[in-house]
Amino acid sequence: MAEPPVRDAIVIGAGLAGCSTAVQLARRGLDVLLLESATYPVHKLCGEFLSPEVRGHFRDLGVSEAIDAARPAAIRRVVVTTRSGLKWTAALPGDAIGLSRWRLDPLLFDAAAGAGANCLLGADVRDVRGSASTGFEVTYRHEGATIVEACRLAVGAFGKRSRLDRTFGREVRTRGGEFVAFKMHYRGADLGESVELHAFDGGYCGMSHVEDGAVNACCIARVGALREAGRSFDALRDGPMRTNPALARRFDVLEPLMAKPVSVSQVSFRTKATFDGGVMMAGDAAAMIAPLCGDGMAMALRSAAIAGPLAADFLERRISFDQLQQRYEREWRAEFRHRLGVGRLLQAALFRPAAAAAGVRLLNAVPWLGDYFVRATRDSESL
Ligand SMILES: Cc1cc2nc3c(=O)[nH]c(=O)nc-3n(C[C@H](O)[C@H](O)[C@H](O)COP(=O)(O)OP(=O)(O)OC[C@H]3O[C@@H](n4cnc5c(N)ncnc54)[C@H](O)[C@@H]3O)c2cc1C
Repeated sequence: MAEPPVRDAIVIGAGLAGCSTAVQLARRGLDVLLLESATYPVHKLCGEFLSPEVRGHFRDLGVSEAIDAARPAAIRRVVVTTRSGLKWTAALPGDAIGLSRWRLDPLLFDAAAGAGANCLLGADVRDVRGSASTGFEVTYRHEGATIVEACRLAVGAFGKRSRLDRTFGREVRTRGGEFVAFKMHYRGADLGESVELHAFDGGYCGMSHVEDGAVNACCIARVGALREAGRSFDALRDGPMRTNPALARRFDVLEPLMAKPVSVSQVSFRTKATFDGGVMMAGDAAAMIAPLCGDGMAMALRSAAIAGPLAADFLERRISFDQLQQRYEREWRAEFRHRLGVGRLLQAALFRPAAAAAGVRLLNAVPWLGDYFVRATRDSESL
């Protein structure tokens, strides 16, 4: 039997970073396989707030019309509230949108297939072995079979938490994995064109509209706060979250549109590595910005916009693997290091009631400070 061909690249994970990378490589005529463990559509854990700078990325990927056709919610303001009843509100520096991952991810996946990538859903990657000099072997389960495929470059776009973290020896459990997050869709409240961030003791809850008038409520809390509340989303919602009066008022009228929340534990905000085991990491697999910045998806697209052309240059033998590693690391750090740090700082403040209250007072007293933080946590050049 003939040996299967060695593909140019295998991209693991078809979220924003994976689909975007696959589009770029496929457009250059490279043989790309995009593997996604989920079957779409699926509800993913995310605030589903798309920062203004995603528009340029969507245009580059050729999905702007499809995004508009999905009728995303318009979001133009940010509102922050604290447990002590303080409130800060400001205009966003551009037009953001709210679109569910249920709608967004299949749309990006179709764009990758349309660009010529080979795309598989329900393909759960179990192992990656090899090196740039020998090539990689990627093992995945698909429709009950175990399949091994060879490639010259493997791209890890498998998000904030994956079984592959263990494969690459990433210490998610021991370092920085102390957060848990939940997301639910509701109906019954009109948030206007605002994204709301409600701080409570040990966490915060973001709320904004997605398509069809639905409200996304997405919260992140310290594991300790969840444990004290009673270890479930309902306990967190009926306990610590109700200590913020604005958030309590929202939950008084919201009716769930989903049977149960999507949840994820061991969320880590530390920077991981741009390469692990020779695999090029993009999106959350390299690092995740604090969710309150509402910029993770834009960052995933931006990191893919850096990774894609460099990976193509390597695959087309214009640069060596060492050059690929060095340039990606350099460009990645220049782009993201500062905003990741500012995001962590803001998040730490929002987790503590006294710091959150002091922060909101400061934002109200110094109007330009809010604008500075909004811009410092995103790609301000493309706003
Ligand atoms: C609580 C919370 C709220 C957030 N809110 C927002 C927000 O409002 N706005 C925003 O911009 N960002 C937000 N983010 C961040 C945002 O969700 C991520 O930054 C973004 O999804 C990263 O995209 P990605 O492509 O790197 O990963 P993902 O979108 O997570 O995609 C990774 C994909 O890899 C797949 N995968 C994983 N393991 C395997 C495997 N072994 N084999 C095959 N496939 C695999 C997964 O199924 C998934 O589809 C939030 C994050 C959290 C935790």
